Amino acid sequence: MPRYNPWFITPWSAPWADVSFGVQQSFIPTQMALIVHKYGGTSMGSTERIRNVARRVAKWARAGNQMVVVPSAMSGETNRLLGLAKEVSPAGSDPAMQRELDMLAATGEQVSVGLLALALQAEGVPAISFTGWQVPVRTNNAYTKARIESIDDQRVRAELDAGKVVIIAGFQGIDNDGHITTLGRGGSDTSAVAVAAALKAAECLIFTDVDGVYTTDPRVVPEARRLATVTFEEMLEMASMGSKILQIRSVEFAGKYQVPLRVLSSFTPWDIPLAQEAVSGTLITFEGDETMESAVVSGIAFNRDEAKISVLGVPDRPGIAYQILGAVADANIEVDVIIQNVSHDGKTDFSFTVHRNDYARTIDVLKAKVVPTLGTDRVEGDTRICKVSIVGIGMRSHVGIASKMFRALSEEGINIQMISTSEIKTSVVIDEKYMELAVRALHRAFDLDQPIG
Ligand code: ASP
Ligand code: MG
Repeated sequence: MPRYNPWFITPWSAPWADVSFGVQQSFIPTQMALIVHKYGGTSMGSTERIRNVARRVAKWARAGNQMVVVPSAMSGETNRLLGLAKEVSPAGSDPAMQRELDMLAATGEQVSVGLLALALQAEGVPAISFTGWQVPVRTNNAYTKARIESIDDQRVRAELDAGKVVIIAGFQGIDNDGHITTLGRGGSDTSAVAVAAALKAAECLIFTDVDGVYTTDPRVVPEARRLATVTFEEMLEMASMGSKILQIRSVEFAGKYQVPLRVLSSFTPWDIPLAQEAVSGTLITFEGDETMESAVVSGIAFNRDEAKISVLGVPDRPGIAYQILGAVADANIEVDVIIQNVSHDGKTDFSFTVHRNDYARTIDVLKAKVVPTLGTDRVEGDTRICKVSIVGIGMRSHVGIASKMFRALSEEGINIQMISTSEIKTSVVIDEKYMELAVRALHRAFDLDQPIG
């Protein structure tokens, strides 16, 4: 039950009443097209940077593209707003309060869209900005973590047809009762992809402070390479593991509605040639695309956020896993890697991992609910573990990949505590002190240091 296994993520459930999503054509940069740009908080971080965003967007508009831009709030702004909320009111989960948090947090993006529209007009490019509710971007009513249900494209299309750049506030929408909602932290990625899907945009370009998706974190492996393409499934596995480039829901969304998505740097000079910019960064593709790189393993992901818990000496009989994990699930704690050992004398050991933040609570739950009924009091834990994974769509069609992984780790003398696999990922749980060593060894073993030839 990997925490981020794409098949466990609730699909976008609501019918997209006003819009239909077709499979997109590949975007050819030299042709005029409807393009969505998304700019993150850093790119929008000052009025000078906003003017650079405006110049970059103007370049794309002047090349004949219909442009929709979805910006985040200026960097630090959402935190500042939520900090203000804390000053006037203690944290709480009551819906009336959540509603006002969204009312407040949504203003960050309203500032951004207004400034960007002004900056574009100053560049001589007609532009108009909309909040989420003006479009409208309809969501459910789950304040602070709302999900988009539909996007009405009429108003946006009318402005595009009138020759304007349309700027839509990210991160926000409106529910059926007219309340402003927000989509969860990092949600403007999802806004941009949803807008691109609704408008059947040729491509959604996410301009951010990294220049693409790498084979692993370059801070750990300096030889890490930028991937020209990665499939959305690989991206889901990698994004969930710490290369937190995109909000995970935006990737699920792109996969579901086949929105061509590109991650690229907003730190290049705004006037680099459009044809060069249009093919830079990393393109997130769909399986079967001819452009897919042929590497079996595309990247090494890692994560230090988990802790291991073992219940030792439990009776080996039906229902034990359910008793242990059921109690944990009832406490709303997500479980990731699970192993159960071969039994001896009718007893077995059962281990699993949870998020480190849930570690103490999980131990409490086990002591309260499980220990009294299972006849063992041996609950052990270890927070100094990490999970390292190899990810690659090519693992589906190749054998011997996992054994190559285990060999590389054994050559470094790294002991594997747990293993879990999915179709496109093999993960091991190891002592956290070996994390960097393991990532480097695997990066080398799978030839990720080498340029693709
Ligand atoms: N401004 C929001 C946040 O900081 C949304 C976003 O930036 O994507 O989480
Ligand atoms: Mg972001």
